[in-house]
Amino acid sequence: MAEKAKRDLLEELRKLKEEGYDTIANLTGDIIVRVDEEGCWTYLNDTACEFWDGSREELLGRSFADYLHPGDMEKTFASVLKTSQSGSLIKDLVNRQKTPLGWRFVQWNATPLYRDGKYIGFQSTGRDITRYKQMEESLRESEEKHRRLFETMSQGVLYQLADGHIFSANPAAERILGLSLDQLKGKTSMDPRWKMITEEGERVPGDEHPAMLALKTGEIVGPVTRGVFIPERNEYVWLSVTATPLFLPGEDKPYQVYAVIDDITAKKRNEEKLRKQQRLTTTILEKLPIGIAVNTMEPMPKVELINDNFTRIYDLNKDSLSTTVSFWEAAYEDEHFREKLKSRVFSDMESGDPERMQWPDIPITKNGKIVRYVSARNIPLEEEGLMISTVMDVTKRKQAEEELLKSKDKAEELQLRFKTLFEKSPVSIIIHDKDSGEVIDANQAGFIAYGFNSLEELQANNFWGESPYSATDALNLIRKASREGTQVFEWKSIKTSGETFWELVTLTPITIDNVERILATSIDITRQKQKEQWEKILYEIANATFVTSDLEELIAQIKEHLSGLINTSNFYIALYDKDSGMLSIPYEHDEKDNIYSWLADKSMTGLVVKEGKAWFIHKREIEELVQSGKIDMIGNMCEVWLGVPLFMGQEVIGAIVVQDYHDPQAYNTESREILEFISNQVSLAIQRQRIFEDLVKAKDKAQESDRLKSAFLANMSHEIRTPMNGIMGFAELLQDPNLSDEQQRKYFQVIERSGDRLLNVIDDIVDVSRIEAGLIDLNLAGSNINDQLEYVYNFFEPEAKGRGLKLDLSVKLPHKWANVYTDREKLFAVLTNLVKNAIKYTPRGRIEFGCRKEGSFYKFFVRDTGIGIPGDRRQAIFDRFVQADIEDKQAMQGVGLGLSISKAYVEMLGGQIWVESEPGKGSVFYFTIPVH
Ligand code: ADP
Repeated sequence: MAEKAKRDLLEELRKLKEEGYDTIANLTGDIIVRVDEEGCWTYLNDTACEFWDGSREELLGRSFADYLHPGDMEKTFASVLKTSQSGSLIKDLVNRQKTPLGWRFVQWNATPLYRDGKYIGFQSTGRDITRYKQMEESLRESEEKHRRLFETMSQGVLYQLADGHIFSANPAAERILGLSLDQLKGKTSMDPRWKMITEEGERVPGDEHPAMLALKTGEIVGPVTRGVFIPERNEYVWLSVTATPLFLPGEDKPYQVYAVIDDITAKKRNEEKLRKQQRLTTTILEKLPIGIAVNTMEPMPKVELINDNFTRIYDLNKDSLSTTVSFWEAAYEDEHFREKLKSRVFSDMESGDPERMQWPDIPITKNGKIVRYVSARNIPLEEEGLMISTVMDVTKRKQAEEELLKSKDKAEELQLRFKTLFEKSPVSIIIHDKDSGEVIDANQAGFIAYGFNSLEELQANNFWGESPYSATDALNLIRKASREGTQVFEWKSIKTSGETFWELVTLTPITIDNVERILATSIDITRQKQKEQWEKILYEIANATFVTSDLEELIAQIKEHLSGLINTSNFYIALYDKDSGMLSIPYEHDEKDNIYSWLADKSMTGLVVKEGKAWFIHKREIEELVQSGKIDMIGNMCEVWLGVPLFMGQEVIGAIVVQDYHDPQAYNTESREILEFISNQVSLAIQRQRIFEDLVKAKDKAQESDRLKSAFLANMSHEIRTPMNGIMGFAELLQDPNLSDEQQRKYFQVIERSGDRLLNVIDDIVDVSRIEAGLIDLNLAGSNINDQLEYVYNFFEPEAKGRGLKLDLSVKLPHKWANVYTDREKLFAVLTNLVKNAIKYTPRGRIEFGCRKEGSFYKFFVRDTGIGIPGDRRQAIFDRFVQADIEDKQAMQGVGLGLSISKAYVEMLGGQIWVESEPGKGSVFYFTIPVH
């Protein structure tokens, strides 16, 4: 620039300063310059100098175009030209200026300058807008970026207004929600067609959608997981939703909200799957009875995963598993064992052979004691670099194996022992098929029990029980045992010999060689059973002695009880009277015989009594005995006869006898044993009963004799007085001198008869007294019974006839037996007495008497058809001073001494006297005297 011009410019500046223009120009923060028509700066304020970083001197006169960005030249020059030509203003022209800081944007406003109406340049104010420009640029760029992002991002974005209306959404949102933008626009969160649920499946109402919550709270909501139902796909999509509220500056209530939604359906499904998988894995790991540890091998072995079973089986806590070393130490307490096992395991593992990587039945000890056995196995997963260690507790199996081993030995031993036991057992053992009952096996005792010689015989024969039991019953019991278990019962069986016996049988189901069988064991209980029954009868007999009042009843009961064991149809108990040698039956029931008393001598019962031992004989033997003269036949012949003595201490007091007239087999040795068994008790019972009866009798007798004494005295005075009166009375009458001869003779007769009678009475009394005093001796001599009988007949015949009675001497002895050695006076006295009584007590009819020889006795009888004697007096009439009917004695004169004297005489002679009678019909008096 020319110096002059410069000087002019500076001068100009000085003037402007003086005018204060410069000051004003510097007060604004803008760049202010003036440019002449050539385009050179004529004025620059301080801001302009700073902007271009030069002094005024340097910058004045320079062309503004020198600082202009070439890219902006065209539009700048066009504006300047327009201004210079039309005088219009330049407004907000932006161009780039070269500054030491680089190109900067400046926004210009300029006005043309005129001097004297002539355009001389323009004045321009400029503002550095570089920052705005830059900001604007970056904003544009970011907006572009944002838009692209919005369009392309995989998350969906929805913009909603404060009332929930969607007004914008990106393509992702369209895709995710299956709705076009148009469909989305205008929809609100409150639209009932939304079906939103939580992860738990609960419905989320419209006003609780994340966007609505963000609007309500003004806070960011989320991310939350929500499911939204897509009707087109008929499924829920799962979204991760974050809603962000938007605020206008200065407002605290959001005016918009945008929600970012991420489709996590697949992720969620995968997660679910994974979770399931994991759950499954954990369950398997924990529930399997196997211990599992997963180890990584590189770089150092390390436990990655371990289940509870693993620690439990080894009895470890998880901490002790941090290293393999600590595992070994914790698992195996014994160092020696541990090292041995470890080297074995390691060498197996090194081999890489999976077959070798298993170690069965390793003992685990605690305090030196084996507490369990484990089986371990390693599974290498080489690709994954993993080693899976598994372990199982095999204690139970191991123990079972050991037990099995032990029990096998034992079983063999047992089997041997059982076999011996089976063979040698005294108990009968039979093994049956459980269904058919067939005999599979039996021991020796088993077949011998039934009388067989071998198992085969047993199998081939029926041995299945004796009445009341049958083979069907037996089979039923076998099947019952198989169904319900052990059966125990009593059973009656029969041997091949025909002998029956009782068994106690136990049927037990057993398994032999895997086949179910029935084991039948039995023992012979015949003896026990018999004993039991016998004991029972004994008891009953003993009991009977206490409850029955007389011997007859007692014997009836004994018979009754016995009938349960043996046939007692013909049963009697005969009692022996040592003094008379007679046997008598206080009670008898016999089909055929009806004998109540007989001489023991030469009778079967007598034999039993005499020998003091049981006799069990059959018809043939009895006949032999009779033939040999050892016994005489009394009563009917039977088929079998059994008699057992009754003992009282050493003395035999009688016998129990049973006999059968039809069946020779009616009794056997067992029957004998039974009778022998009870005989003692029967003796006792009889004895007791006798004592009791004796006592009663003694008492009765004491009372009776008192009564008898007075009766006797009264009677006696009558008996003596009557003939005495007769004698005295008629003796006095005889003194009358006026008596005719006939009268005298009659009176003498009366006196004579009365004298006889008196003599008789006195004789009787004397006899009784002598008997009582033991003064009577036997006067034995030979005499003839038939003669005596005839004498008695002749003696009484006239008297009988006189009373209208028929007297018969019906039976006499054969001649050879008629002579007897006896006391004939006494025999005569007895006979006379009996015939005399018969006449006396027989109002009409007949009297018959005689004698027979029976065995070693003569048996006399006197039978009448008189008044008879009541049963209760039949015994008493043989007592002294007893008359059959005391009340009626006046009718039949007598003092009641005759029979007692007769009895005394008969007994002295070694015989017996008794009576059979029926009141109203008559009586038979019997008496015996021995032949020798
Ligand atoms: P008595 O002197 O009374 O006949 P006995 O001793 O001879 O005395 O007889 C006793 C009793 O026996 C008699 O009183 C009578 O009641 C009875 N008696 C004896 N013999 C018979 C008979 N044949 N018929 C009926 N009763 C008789």
